[in-house]
Amino acid sequence: MSNDFNDKNEDQTSSNVGINTRLSHIGNKPMDYHGFVNPPVVRASTVLFPDYETMRDRAQPYVYGTYGTPTTDALCNALSELEGAAGTRLVPSGLAAISVPVLAFARAGMHVLVVDSLYSPNRRFCNDVLSRLGVEVEYFSPHAGADFAKLMRPNTGIVMLEAPASNSFEMCDTPLIANIAHEKNPDCVVMMDNTWATPLFFKPLDYGVDVSIHALTKYPSGHSDVLMGGVSVNARHWEQFNDATNAMGICVGGDDAALVLRGLRTMGVRLAHHEKSTMEICRWLWKHPEVSRVLYPALPDDPGHELWKRDFKGASGLFSFVIRGKGRDDCGAFLNALKYHGLGYSWAGYESLAVMPNFGDRVVAHGPDEGTTIRIQVGLEDPQDLIADLERGFAALKRS
Ligand SMILES: *Cc1c(COP(=O)(O)O)cnc(C)c1O
Repeated sequence: MSNDFNDKNEDQTSSNVGINTRLSHIGNKPMDYHGFVNPPVVRASTVLFPDYETMRDRAQPYVYGTYGTPTTDALCNALSELEGAAGTRLVPSGLAAISVPVLAFARAGMHVLVVDSLYSPNRRFCNDVLSRLGVEVEYFSPHAGADFAKLMRPNTGIVMLEAPASNSFEMCDTPLIANIAHEKNPDCVVMMDNTWATPLFFKPLDYGVDVSIHALTKYPSGHSDVLMGGVSVNARHWEQFNDATNAMGICVGGDDAALVLRGLRTMGVRLAHHEKSTMEICRWLWKHPEVSRVLYPALPDDPGHELWKRDFKGASGLFSFVIRGKGRDDCGAFLNALKYHGLGYSWAGYESLAVMPNFGDRVVAHGPDEGTTIRIQVGLEDPQDLIADLERGFAALKRS
């Protein structure tokens, strides 16, 4: 007799059960591993074949470590299920999750449209590497809307989106842009960096996007102790992407995959806490006399709120606010006074962080200019303590 819990099948992980139920069960197949709840952490280069014929025909699920192991497959299957994707590949960082699919689809003579407010380290890849390969990169405004049609050319082969934007949190109309891109050029690959929302709050492939990109470093892992990226692709483009990733030798280790899979199990409960605390902190900041703006699309006054409400199921714990009329060095005193917000890059771990983003490299979507922008990653601490911490920052600002 088989127990449904042990014999994981499509029914149990299907989308008609709650998200935390799905997160608890997707990916793993305990009965394949003597009933152990988690898949084994496979560290592998060589995989042995029982005989010459099996080797000749590659007639077994695993042939070499670079192409995947039971550990990486468990994570890939979980992510594909969450994204509604034909397949997912793991790459060594979130930044590689942007560059690897672009390299898989780009060719010389292609025109690529990139939203100007995208994760900024990606700009260096576009400007230095892509241009060297004969690909023309053009940045466009997240507010392009229907005017996006005017930017499409017959050779536009890739469109890169991110919503809300890194650091400044502008929303863009993802389904509108994806539709226009495909209408003008059916072969155009529309990619979206979905790190902020995670597939719990937005599913790009359901809105016309072809490739959903994740810094798994962020919420899926959730503990600031591992770097990884995930690329989930629809059926139309999966084969080309998968072949190119194999050809480039891109892979991740089993220990890191196991860490991300462990984090993924609690992503739903963590996000619920991040979301609730962030809303509380944003509402408090919004009323603060030193603050000119809070950039967070879940706030009803945010310019992107309508798009966010239309397409997204929730909001995560990263936002910015602007301290009116103060320069960057003035705001240094604010950052120095913080006790629970560490000063450091990355985000989506359990600990709160603060940074002062710079919008200097933007070409069309310039950041706020009425003061200094501070970006906050709201961790799992109790929100009243985080508010008291920010209050300490404002007090230091007044003295400076
Ligand atoms: C952090 C981040 C990345 C890059 O992830 P790493 O794993 O740190 O390389 C990509 N996109 C977004 C939106 C990010 O916030």
